[in-house]
Amino acid sequence: MFVSKNLTVNENGNLAIGGVDTVELAQQYGTPLYVMDEQLIRKNCRSFKKSIDKYYDGNGLVCYASKTFSCLEMCRIIKNEGIGLDVVSIGELYTALKAGFDCSKIGFHGNNKTNQELEYAVDNKVGHIIVDNIEELYRLDKIAGEKNVIADIMFRIKPGIDAHTHDFVKTGQIDSKFGFALETGEAFEAVKLAIQLENVNLLGLHCHIGSQIFDIAPFEEAANVMLGFIAKIKKELDFEVKELNLGGGFGIMYTEKDTPSPYDTYMKNVSAVVHKKCEELGINLPFILIEPGRSIAGPAGITLYTVGARKEIPNIRTYVSIDGGMCDNPRYALYKSEYDALVANKASQEKTDIVTIAGKCCESGDLIGENMPLQYAESGDIIAVCATGAYNYSMSSNYNRIPKPAVVFVNEGESRIGVKRETLDDIIRNDI
Ligand SMILES: *Cc1c(COP(=O)(O)O)cnc(C)c1O
Repeated sequence: MFVSKNLTVNENGNLAIGGVDTVELAQQYGTPLYVMDEQLIRKNCRSFKKSIDKYYDGNGLVCYASKTFSCLEMCRIIKNEGIGLDVVSIGELYTALKAGFDCSKIGFHGNNKTNQELEYAVDNKVGHIIVDNIEELYRLDKIAGEKNVIADIMFRIKPGIDAHTHDFVKTGQIDSKFGFALETGEAFEAVKLAIQLENVNLLGLHCHIGSQIFDIAPFEEAANVMLGFIAKIKKELDFEVKELNLGGGFGIMYTEKDTPSPYDTYMKNVSAVVHKKCEELGINLPFILIEPGRSIAGPAGITLYTVGARKEIPNIRTYVSIDGGMCDNPRYALYKSEYDALVANKASQEKTDIVTIAGKCCESGDLIGENMPLQYAESGDIIAVCATGAYNYSMSSNYNRIPKPAVVFVNEGESRIGVKRETLDDIIRNDI
């Protein structure tokens, strides 16, 4: 009945998440409100960890892609689960450090890291810096040299795989701003250069073909291509690439149209390809890393809003206006991403209506969705939008000078604040 397994209808007929009544959460903390289910986050971390341990005999590491959803409490939960973390900016790295994260388990991504970011990563001995381009390789080698250290690196490779997903979230094809191309020989030249440079240590290769991918085949294909490249490096340069990061991108269920395979099936099928290919090519099995983001945090979150107005435009559509919008969830505006929503205080009722949920920002495109099945919603109702744990809080903005909502964690019937709601003073705190 619900897209996420942690959602139920309780004895009051209200929506509950992780055993907590969402209508009570809305009353206690106000709306809009992000709610994250700690148990589901932990469960998702554990199932990936279990799969990688099983299929690679413990020679692998799951790293949570923190751009999906990052705050101190989330980093603490991830740390406590014993998995690694990916960051893509100094801000995400700073958050992880402040949460006491073990730097050796952090990977630093990004297609244009600044010198400040590289220095900060080197100073804090980040486990892997994933180098995106030649200029960055030279800059990092110089920075590490000045500090008299050797930086452990990986290369971001475009394996030339076209994943079947939205254009804006595809990243593995040759026309991408991320990484070194294989087809053109650019990646091979970069490897040659890295081997010669004195202050970088090339540990491995990395690819990430895109996001919200349901097919397993593109992941298998990417693994094949990457291992082929590792074999070429061994043969032609007599250099062993010890680690292979296969990225994230596992799709989740936003609406009933989405049909993700169980993640253990991805892991199993890809590992079969990895084992077979290594044997064929006569290379050692590399240490395998993966970087799920959305599939860990996405299903664990919901957003609660209060309905303000209902506007029925005869023969056209019905708008239901909420007290948030693109400022806390820009994904419909960005990608036309679909969500499932319900009226939290009428969760046991049928969805008899089809509506457009509109935000409060001054943009016509500020919608959470169109043609959404919903219970009859009127002023004062609480709307829950499901599966908003990924790329919502992390993509939020202060557009229209709207303070960002609070993030509340629920855990086995209890709730606590993870991120406080912004105040009006927060809105002007950097203004002179
Ligand atoms: C965004 C990103 C991920 C996570 O992708 P999901 O689709 O959220 O799993 C992993 N690795 C890299 C390099 C990324 O940019």
